[in-house]
Amino acid sequence: MGIEGTVEVGKDIRQIPGTPVFITPLDKLFNWARAGSLWPLTFGLACCAIEMMATGASHFDLDRFGIIFRASPRQADAIIIAGTVTKKMAPIVRRVYDQMPEPKYVIAMGSCACSGGVFRTYSVVQGADEFLPVDVYIPGCPPRPEALIYGLVQLQEKIKKESGRWGFWR
Ligand code: SF4
Repeated sequence: MGIEGTVEVGKDIRQIPGTPVFITPLDKLFNWARAGSLWPLTFGLACCAIEMMATGASHFDLDRFGIIFRASPRQADAIIIAGTVTKKMAPIVRRVYDQMPEPKYVIAMGSCACSGGVFRTYSVVQGADEFLPVDVYIPGCPPRPEALIYGLVQLQEKIKKESGRWGFWR
């Protein structure tokens, strides 16, 4: 819906003519900022974590997407479940997730995190979504860094479409 006297310069962005003032929904502004500064936790469980490390290293350079790994859950807003989750490890992963501030996101990286992979055994959780709200699934054993980048970009697109995730105007 247009606002009287303003000029549309982009989807949901309007300018007050003759001024450098732009108007956009707060949701859109927050989502743009959050999607462009995703900070995943430095956290790996098994072989997929090696691919995750490679993705963060210089050749693939995640920093160019504004994605910078953080060593503390208190400073992270995403967790990449990279590897096999054993039933012994699941409560610890959940505790780390619970220590992250809202809004937060979960990526299941690799067949093991998505569905238990080849480990259909008594000791392995058959998918991270059994104990975490997974936002993006990345198949493969292991997925290449390009696949993880694609998954992260999909998460950014999802964040850009969110509404009221901050909660204070609900
Ligand atoms: S999906 Fe494959 S590479 Fe990834 S943790 Fe499982 S066995 Fe390892």
